[in-house]
Amino acid sequence: MAVSKAEIERRMERLAQTCRGGRLKLTHQRMEVFRELAGAEDHPDAETIYQNVRRRVPAISRDTVYRTLATLEEQGLVHKAEILSGRGRYDANMEHHHHFICTECGRVHDFYSRTLDDLPIPRSVASFGRVESAQVQLRGICANCAKGKR
Ligand SMILES: [Zn+2]
Ligand SMILES: [Zn+2]
Repeated sequence: MAVSKAEIERRMERLAQTCRGGRLKLTHQRMEVFRELAGAEDHPDAETIYQNVRRRVPAISRDTVYRTLATLEEQGLVHKAEILSGRGRYDANMEHHHHFICTECGRVHDFYSRTLDDLPIPRSVASFGRVESAQVQLRGICANCAKGKR
């Protein structure tokens, strides 16, 4: 299972578009960081992205990767998926979606559901503030880990 070529292209095009709009300068290193994320389905954390990009772009520094991720997030090209403990994980899938998280291996799967998109928000939430988005996180044991257990 991998992100389809067409989807990666679509994501790269979104980056190019943002850069053409003049909001962001398209540098080689930025492109490589984004490409890494555009093709990743496992919602990698910043360190993993750095390690992978470094294989293709040995000159890139950890600092550059971290800063680039923050910039891409500011531009709405990636978002941070708050998953399990602390470590921010990045996601280039900007379509509204939900997550299945394996509590054993930490793998994250995206899934889509109209029903969950329209989740009724309890009225009591209004006292906390205005809701801007809602995302469902399902936790469990993924098929792979379940197989290993038997
Ligand atoms: Zn698993
Ligand atoms: Zn996701």
